Amino acid sequence: MHRVLSLLCLLCCVPATTVFAERHTSCLSANIRPSQVWIARTLCQHARHSATLRRLLTAVGAAPLVVYVEEAGSTPSAWAARIRFVGRAAAWRYVVIDVRPGVSGPVAAALLAHELQHALEIDDGRVENAAEFRRLFARIGFPSGVAGADAFDTAAAIEAGVDTLRELTGREPMTTARAYRLRSRERD
Ligand SMILES: [Zn+2]
Repeated sequence: MHRVLSLLCLLCCVPATTVFAERHTSCLSANIRPSQVWIARTLCQHARHSATLRRLLTAVGAAPLVVYVEEAGSTPSAWAARIRFVGRAAAWRYVVIDVRPGVSGPVAAALLAHELQHALEIDDGRVENAAEFRRLFARIGFPSGVAGADAFDTAAAIEAGVDTLRELTGREPMTTARAYRLRSRERD
């Protein structure tokens, strides 16, 4: 049976309000900061079996990014994970990834891989503020179709999630995202 990866992803620019527990986790670079132990475990355990997730963790670890990863509190059901741009200070760009508490295992790892790709896009785009953040994803992405939300997604992030899930489960996940299907067709 195919697993369906939720492709809905929000990109928004709101201040971070969470106080993050500083926990050192050996497999993660110091600039990747999960607020919960289960998130760190998900990343570390699945990175051993997913080359895509390993590549993304290495790339983010080497980038001038500070990536907080937190469990979303009370959230609407429209999305499973999202990334928020918090701001820039000196050479560092700060982002927060929120992941819903209901997800776990390979699906959570795939969602986190998806959002880590967005973090790299934010670094590549040299985003300075909320307006640039939105402009970047309007340019490199497409509206993700989350009702009532000003949300975008990118083919590269969808691909990162799909590849991670395939590597972890050995199955080809289904995706309904048109941009991903077009990109896959170009590769074939
Ligand atoms: Zn996304």
